[in-house]
Amino acid sequence: MNDKVRSHILANQRAFIEDLSTACRIPSVFGNDAALHEMADWLTARLRQAGCQVEQWPLAGGPPVVWGEIGAGERSLLSYSHYDVQPADPLNLWDSPAFEPVVREGKLFARGVSDDKGDVMSRIHAVETYQAIYGELPLRFKFFVEGEEEIGSPNLAPAAATHAAQLQADGCLWESGGFDNEERYTIYLGVKGMLYVELRAGGAVCDLHSAYAPVVTNPAWRLVQALNTLRSADGVITIDGFVEHVRPPTPAEESYLDHIPFEGAARKAQWGLQQFEGGVDDREALKRFLFAPTCNICGIYSGFIDAGQKTVLPNAAMAKLDLRLVPNLTPELVLDLLRRHLDRRGFDEIEVVRLGSLSTSRANPQAEFVQTVTSALADVYGHQPVVYPSHGGSGPMYPLAEGLGMDAVTVGVGYAGVNMHAPNENIRVDDYLKHVEFLVELFRRFGS
Ligand SMILES: [Zn+2]
Repeated sequence: MNDKVRSHILANQRAFIEDLSTACRIPSVFGNDAALHEMADWLTARLRQAGCQVEQWPLAGGPPVVWGEIGAGERSLLSYSHYDVQPADPLNLWDSPAFEPVVREGKLFARGVSDDKGDVMSRIHAVETYQAIYGELPLRFKFFVEGEEEIGSPNLAPAAATHAAQLQADGCLWESGGFDNEERYTIYLGVKGMLYVELRAGGAVCDLHSAYAPVVTNPAWRLVQALNTLRSADGVITIDGFVEHVRPPTPAEESYLDHIPFEGAARKAQWGLQQFEGGVDDREALKRFLFAPTCNICGIYSGFIDAGQKTVLPNAAMAKLDLRLVPNLTPELVLDLLRRHLDRRGFDEIEVVRLGSLSTSRANPQAEFVQTVTSALADVYGHQPVVYPSHGGSGPMYPLAEGLGMDAVTVGVGYAGVNMHAPNENIRVDDYLKHVEFLVELFRRFGS
């Protein structure tokens, strides 16, 4: 690898860590508006110092997006990260104060150092390192740093829509990547979408004596009967038209399964299970985890659930469902399919209330951007990264990725012990420096 880059990073490591520490001293916890605005202003000044054209995009009721652009060239990269952090409590479980960053045994401890200030600062330091060694950045690098990630990015989609032209790039670096617990660098090429709904069944105006059960419809039964039509006993989602819309994984996506470590026996032991659902083997379990849509009951509530017995005929029943979505299943489509499915079976009195939704986002594994990220990671980190074609979970990636026609990849400065959202959040200093080196190499390869 490039010795000049490496020695520049080593010569500046104290300054980098001090700079990152300054960012972490600002307690930009969600809800703390003064600190969030202070953080946005600090970041604005810092990006300007790096040479960026900077703007703050005000959002409805929240802290602004900080936007910075730098470099020249045919190609561009969008960087997504965030400057808000989780609260630090319980404070007594920290070995040093959460907003007084300190290095111990090669690790920098501070709230927000991994989630997500380390990611944004490493990108600033990479831009500056590139400029110091090679001169002008060979691509246009676009920083999008929001302050509302920890509360679910409520204004991300509207901000992306408003600034769509400015955001357009040839690839998107997402936040939050790093080493897994076996020290393998790990990246994700997407997330599942999600539709979260509440099903509500109603009955009489009040709970009744259960002697009336022969003559009064029980909403708990109605709800259970409706739920029973949504999914078969062997796990197939039976909402009319649902499976027909699913785009199965492509051969390229599926080929990653062979390289993803998945210790089924260890998971089963950890969770106290004899087998995975359907008794499937490890490969099939991993395949379902990454690629299968779900219709999951998060909770059911009705009637009397305290200790002991009480005979009652409840007048309401409620269930919360999350449906994880894969390509071609949009939240709107699934909501519509669910409504029609219930109506067709006479469950038209059951109300479907949409509580939240996220769209699926999936990068094309064969895109040049993805390939360049992967090969630069392999060369800088010295091993092939583990590539997940999708996360099993969901996140707000879509508005800045697939929604704008872009491929997004998660990269970052983390490792398995970062204690995200927990006391003693930290990153390893060496990981931080290595990541700056990787980013400089990515700029060099993707820009030329
Ligand atoms: Zn977080």
